[in-house]
Amino acid sequence: MVGGVIFDVKRFSIHDGPGIRTTVFLKGCPLNCRWCHNPEGQAPGPELVLRAGRCIGCGACLEVCPQGAISLDSGVARTDRERCDLCGACVEVCYTGAREVAGREMTVQQVVAEIERDIPFYDQSGGGVTFSGGEPLLQQDFLLALLQACRERGIRTGVDTCGYAPWETLDRVRRLTDLFLWDLKLMDDARHREYTGVSNRLILENVRALSERGHAIFLRLPIIPGVNDDDGNIRQTGAFAAALPHLARVDLLPYHPTGVGKYERLDQVYRLPDTRPPSDGRIEEIVDMLRGFGLQVKIGG
Ligand code: SF4
Ligand code: SF4
Repeated sequence: MVGGVIFDVKRFSIHDGPGIRTTVFLKGCPLNCRWCHNPEGQAPGPELVLRAGRCIGCGACLEVCPQGAISLDSGVARTDRERCDLCGACVEVCYTGAREVAGREMTVQQVVAEIERDIPFYDQSGGGVTFSGGEPLLQQDFLLALLQACRERGIRTGVDTCGYAPWETLDRVRRLTDLFLWDLKLMDDARHREYTGVSNRLILENVRALSERGHAIFLRLPIIPGVNDDDGNIRQTGAFAAALPHLARVDLLPYHPTGVGKYERLDQVYRLPDTRPPSDGRIEEIVDMLRGFGLQVKIGG
């Protein structure tokens, strides 16, 4: 049975496509967006998440760590990630919840069992399951097996993607997917490279190719002040979107800093520390600009 690495399963989601949905987060992403609010989804394998603020210095984790990776420093447990082999023993004994492993191996059967619990809600609300991440296309075989299993059960599917994958991958995935939630971050290629680590060419080519084949697509635009909220980028985005032969909707996702604390828990540095959410007024201006291209626009997912 095919398996993969999942870092979260959220039931009763209402922001990842129509109706009530279960969102399954697959681990690993080829991009490295500076504003990413799921940094625990970027690396392909499991990772240790450490909440120093919850540590009471009881020392239980030190005693069970087979690698000797943990030490106490000023009453707080510190972990040498180089030594840690992610066995999870410390997580089991830490009753304050200061330690967690993000990411677990799951089989298709296990994920489908979670998804199936809410079939009555999908049926009543027009919902389904959304595979998100990270970047779900990165675990191609796992994703395809999950999509196939959902189709066999009559569960409608969405794939939330950054679109950075070979067309051959997308060509297989699209045949089993009812809706694409497609992230568009920046139209200028140099700035896209600067803020996400990769070129946007493949992403734009792929979404155009999908649209030409008549697929249902929601474009999702994260609005990050100082990065992509300028009139020039919004107008270029609007022109690109309006030229797509099939596009159901454009969703604006205003920046929020809720993921910032996660970086510290992974011993990583957040690279947009001074960024603040856009004002309601600026969001309304962006909505108006995009509607000027004849697009259907919604704030939020
Ligand atoms: S078991 Fe938890 S609370 Fe105790 S020292 Fe380790 S991290 Fe801190
Ligand atoms: S996950 Fe295992 S190896 Fe890593 S710090 Fe915890 S007990 Fe040690």
